[in-house]
Amino acid sequence: MNTQTSAPTQNQVGEKQGERPKTFVPNRKKTFNKQSRPMGKTQGNSKVKISFLGGIGEIGKNMTIFETENDIIVFDCGMTFADETMPGIELVIPDISYLRDKKEKIKAFVITHGHEDHIGALPFVLGEIKAPIYASRFTLALIENKMREYPRVKYKAVEVKPRQNLRIGDFSFEFIHVNHSIAGAMAVAITTPAGLILHTGDFKIDNTPINQATTDLKRIEEIGKKGVKLLMCECTNVERAGWSLSETHVQNQLEKAVFQDHANERLIVATFASNVYRMQEILSLAEKYNRKVAFTGRSMLNISQIAMKLGVLHYNRENVISIEDVKKYADNEVCILTTGSQGEQMSALTRMSNDNFAKFKLTTNDCVVFSSSPIPGNEKSVINVMNKLVHKGVGLVYDRLAEIHASGHGCQDEIGTIMKLAKPEYVLPVHGEYMHLEGFRKFAISQGFHDRQIVITDLGNQVQVTPTSVRKTGFVKVGAKLIDGNTFGDLNSPVMKDRKALSEDGFVIAVINISTKLGKVLNDPIIITRGLLYNHEMDFMLREIKTSLLVHLKNYDLHTIDVNELKKDLKKFLSNTISRKTKRKPLVLCTIVMN
Ligand SMILES: [Zn+2]
Ligand SMILES: [Zn+2]
Repeated sequence: MNTQTSAPTQNQVGEKQGERPKTFVPNRKKTFNKQSRPMGKTQGNSKVKISFLGGIGEIGKNMTIFETENDIIVFDCGMTFADETMPGIELVIPDISYLRDKKEKIKAFVITHGHEDHIGALPFVLGEIKAPIYASRFTLALIENKMREYPRVKYKAVEVKPRQNLRIGDFSFEFIHVNHSIAGAMAVAITTPAGLILHTGDFKIDNTPINQATTDLKRIEEIGKKGVKLLMCECTNVERAGWSLSETHVQNQLEKAVFQDHANERLIVATFASNVYRMQEILSLAEKYNRKVAFTGRSMLNISQIAMKLGVLHYNRENVISIEDVKKYADNEVCILTTGSQGEQMSALTRMSNDNFAKFKLTTNDCVVFSSSPIPGNEKSVINVMNKLVHKGVGLVYDRLAEIHASGHGCQDEIGTIMKLAKPEYVLPVHGEYMHLEGFRKFAISQGFHDRQIVITDLGNQVQVTPTSVRKTGFVKVGAKLIDGNTFGDLNSPVMKDRKALSEDGFVIAVINISTKLGKVLNDPIIITRGLLYNHEMDFMLREIKTSLLVHLKNYDLHTIDVNELKKDLKKFLSNTISRKTKRKPLVLCTIVMN
């Protein structure tokens, strides 16, 4: 079983009036001696190294390593989804080779929030690295839900709260509430021997949020007054001027453009399952407009149940029905919350669009709402689903028609606000593709930062923070590990190369029967192909290939042939011949039967 405990706050740990608060040291056995180690004087060494194993030059698989001579903290542990260059692969996680000979130093995983690009690699990394996970209650609930699929991986979870301080080895962490498109998101102020580092995590500033407080700007301002050495700031939306939309605005738009304008239709709303604030908006509006709500799709069901259990969602229990009961209600009495906002192939909405959803069929009196925007890379899948829906005569409302979606990432004025309050000596953008990093550099200059104060990094860069400087000092090994069923793969492995060849050009198998005694080929070679030749060219091409092969075999003395050498040579010959004749490069396998 996994254990989950709450880390005591500073105030909870033996603090009396006037007494200096003691800091909490988790895992006392291991770090007991370090409790008396004064911060910033670790054997005269006050350097902190930051290594980027993921999340720079990409949006995904966030993983940053904070390291002193004694301790390492793994900050976020995310995954990314595979793209079309990785056939058969669904998930990609960071290569953690850099940590392999440093496992003893690793004291904690600190997780900012529960999005997959921040927690998705945990099941795989926790198998190798044993350190407690520190995260908010909602984040830990999502981690627990994920880890149920990996019952053999044990871990220890420690719940932390906003404004809580805790000491882990050479570091001291303070968690700060921020708005984001998920509950329980936090920025983290990290007191290190080299100075104070503020990491924003993923954030926006929503002055009128739903069901939560606004980003704790007061605390960020107070921390700014202490003197921030380095601000590590997410930059996903740095190219967008102004402010991101507020969730209250989104709710108002949903009310008007969906619940009022489509009052007589059945409503089917697709959104990110983890966006419990959006879920709340739909639940509240459904109640107001006398509609029952049904959830469908695995992650929508799982996360809504977690959010209800933790009290993150406020709703009337009688207003929620099961998806099976939708049929019992008139169209204007129900609202269905579904997965599939990204056009995912197996999602409930995609199945509905394919008439493949067991619970009901779509009709022309349905209105499908995309309260979301496609994550870069998913645009085509989303548009495919939308087209199918329109073709069926289903009504469609999406973010280009009405402001029914807000990004969870802050725009320029929000990033600028954090810069002004934190007043850092140095800034370093994270959570962005290269264009976002460059956009951040330009924006930071517009905010009065000098080029020498802006540290732009790349994947695998190591940055050194000292009391007087922040600069890039070297590289660490990085890469992508592909999750391939029960094993790990590499992008450059022969398996991936074969899969690519198979998926693009098919395969050819040649079986050649040779008698060494007679020194000749017995029978015609057998040539089998799949995914290479069209019916109309099949016979002709196979004959051509066979003839060329037989002519080529005349070059050998088949009495004394080395089978392995012959196999290699024939494979090369066949590859070249097929490529010349077909202009394609299939995977070629050659089998020689000796008699
Ligand atoms: Zn996020
Ligand atoms: Zn993220």
